[in-house]
Amino acid sequence: MEKFDLVIVGSGPAGLGTAFAYCKRKPEGKILLIEKERYSTGGLRNDCKMNFTYPIGFPEEYWDPEEANRHLSEVIEELQPRFMEKKNLSIYKKRAEKLGVKLLEVRQSHLGTDGGLELIKELLDRLKKRGVEIHLEETAQEVHQKDRILQTDKGKYRYEDLVIAPGRKGFAFLQDLMRRLKIPFMDHILDIGIRLETTIEQYPIVRDYYDPKFLFPDRVRTFCTNAFRAYVVQEKYLTSNGDHYYSVNGHAYSTKRQENGLVNFALLKTVMFTEPLASGQKYAEMIGLQAMLLGGGRPIMQRVGDFRLGKRSTEGTFTGDLYFFEPTLHCTPGDISLSIPAKILRAIWKAMKLLDTIVPGVLHPSTIMYYPEIKLYGNKPTFIDPHFQALPHLYLIGDGAGTSRGITAAWASGIRAVEGILGKTGT
Ligand SMILES: Cc1cc2nc3c(=O)[nH]c(=O)nc-3n(C[C@H](O)[C@H](O)[C@H](O)COP(=O)(O)OP(=O)(O)OC[C@H]3O[C@@H](n4cnc5c(N)ncnc54)[C@H](O)[C@@H]3O)c2cc1C
Repeated sequence: MEKFDLVIVGSGPAGLGTAFAYCKRKPEGKILLIEKERYSTGGLRNDCKMNFTYPIGFPEEYWDPEEANRHLSEVIEELQPRFMEKKNLSIYKKRAEKLGVKLLEVRQSHLGTDGGLELIKELLDRLKKRGVEIHLEETAQEVHQKDRILQTDKGKYRYEDLVIAPGRKGFAFLQDLMRRLKIPFMDHILDIGIRLETTIEQYPIVRDYYDPKFLFPDRVRTFCTNAFRAYVVQEKYLTSNGDHYYSVNGHAYSTKRQENGLVNFALLKTVMFTEPLASGQKYAEMIGLQAMLLGGGRPIMQRVGDFRLGKRSTEGTFTGDLYFFEPTLHCTPGDISLSIPAKILRAIWKAMKLLDTIVPGVLHPSTIMYYPEIKLYGNKPTFIDPHFQALPHLYLIGDGAGTSRGITAAWASGIRAVEGILGKTGT
């Protein structure tokens, strides 16, 4: 059986960050990177907006500004982002402050879905040149902790250290693994909300600030704005019973593509269970399946004009001349308020009205609300050190393990794990 200094599961930003950080500190190290898909399926492939300002993407219970900023410098060194300009924000900031809303100014870069694919390819090529062995289309299945062996669907590998970074889609895999390895964990937080789609004219702030981060009362925030060449997608999630539901999401192409004049972004409310401590994963499944029941197996879309009048949207609402743009995700016209829990809808509707006061026009009757958009937080394992070590020589990082909620923080989590393995400068 072949032995590696480091085996990494997952080629998302957390796995890639780990590989780059290890190569930098110990260039002679023998590294294996395992990815179950043909490519990395994570955030680098999805619109690839990168945020370089704390606390965006960094769960504050694990990261303080100093630690995050130190790691962000290394992320910038490897990824060489081109930062986007922000301008004319004072008017929006003043309005927001008056209403008790915060507009965070974040350093951002944006590659677009096509640009993200090119970046993944380039990063994997750079790793190969540094001698990292990369196995695509191979799935990690089991960890034999005592003997330090990772078992996949294609073989077994001995390791000195193992970093597991399977992302949100690997949520269930990680939960099963932690149960088998008896690593205590919690999963009691999630974000639930809607995605709004409208025209650039109705949300012109994106001309000055591509992905404006508004923080509203009741733990509601704007999230993941896509503009100019933007479209909404549905992503499939399997439940523990083998059923499936869709969560909506947003993408945009790079500037190489033609503009479609549209923008989409999510409004998400964070929900945290305390007593009794319910599972966020289970709650997400229930909410997702309920939306599928009412949407005939698809997400639901509703025009703001219909929502305001308290009536459902119908196919006619989407073809009539009252409304002037077509949805980019043609799902089921319906009534979101029949599906979304009242407390969540109230908080989101309040945030929408506040946003419409700050950026007047966003609640145009044509604006489309898509539901559900569900974001699971990580599983929150109990770590035995600050480097995300869950058991000796086993590190759990990235969005799946709750150490990040974005590309740059996922990458930074990889650096932090490597600092735990090799020390700050390497040995
Ligand atoms: C549609 C979408 C758009 C997004 N857009 C942005 C954005 O613009 N900006 C931003 O900062 N964040 C964005 N995010 C969030 C971002 O994707 C995550 O924060 C980030 O990718 C987390 O990195 P990760 O490495 O932890 O996980 P991931 O990027 O999800 O990578 C995990 C990898 O592990 C692989 N894997 C899983 N299980 C196994 C297994 N058993 N064996 C082998 N391989 C396995 C997966 O195939 C995957 O490639 C987006 C997310 C989505 C879903």
